[in-house]
Amino acid sequence: MLKEGNAAFVQGACTTGAPGRIHELADGRAPFAVIIACSDSRTPPSALFNRGLGDLFIIRVAGNTVDSSGLGSIEYGISVLGTSLVLVLGHTHCGVVNAAVKAVTEKAKFPGSIGTIVAPIIPAVRSLKGGDDLAERAVTANVQRVVSRLKAAKPIVTKGLQDGSVKVAGAVYDIATGKVDFGVAA
Ligand SMILES: [Zn+2]
Repeated sequence: MLKEGNAAFVQGACTTGAPGRIHELADGRAPFAVIIACSDSRTPPSALFNRGLGDLFIIRVAGNTVDSSGLGSIEYGISVLGTSLVLVLGHTHCGVVNAAVKAVTEKAKFPGSIGTIVAPIIPAVRSLKGGDDLAERAVTANVQRVVSRLKAAKPIVTKGLQDGSVKVAGAVYDIATGKVDFGVAA
């Protein structure tokens, strides 16, 4: 459904406006996917997957990492709402990933609490060799790292993976083409 939705989005055939769903969903909801996405204004999951009200349970934080409250939201989606897919969605040209690269390569520091969103991405940057495209490789490495950490999250995610009721996957949205690459981590 996410793949079909992204194809419609790329073709400019979005159909998310469905006022009738407001009343339909007033008594309950069963979103089919939990999406962990960046706060970047160019990456709203409902739009780029062409999904409307009630479809997606979305956690957005700059840099699409998962802290303890993010994990709690994911676990709520799985255990209370019955969601079967958890998708970590990174994107190209991510400012926070760029900041993490600068923290590693230039020892950059950040004011206020900005460092708290940069810090969880630094291990992904450190896992890579330097080079011109380090920031773009770090986007993928960050998604893969978040996916593998989620897969080890006991007990709710691990139980869902074991009994086959949950799938955790990673994807990267290309802000230049509108296309989502679903082959990043499965
Ligand atoms: Zn971003």
